[in-house]
Amino acid sequence: MNICEKQHRYASILNNLPDSQSSDEGRHLCAGCAYEKGYSDGLNNQKCKLAELNLPYSQAGTGRHKSAQAAYDLGWQEGNQKYCS
Ligand SMILES: [Zn+2]
Repeated sequence: MNICEKQHRYASILNNLPDSQSSDEGRHLCAGCAYEKGYSDGLNNQKCKLAELNLPYSQAGTGRHKSAQAAYDLGWQEGNQKYCS
């Protein structure tokens, strides 16, 4: 199992995400990695399914128990604003 050990720059952003205990929203997946993936996908104006991203797991830090889907969507919106501007 792949465990994320990055110090995510977006940790404070992740605080505002909803908690998730639902496996189909990416429970225990790293929300920080999901955010970064979403951001780069937004920049390229493409969207991936969470299951396709091959995200590492995270059991610690700000992103713990946060919805990886919500993190991806948030990053995507911010990246896509740059794509559109
Ligand atoms: Zn991560």
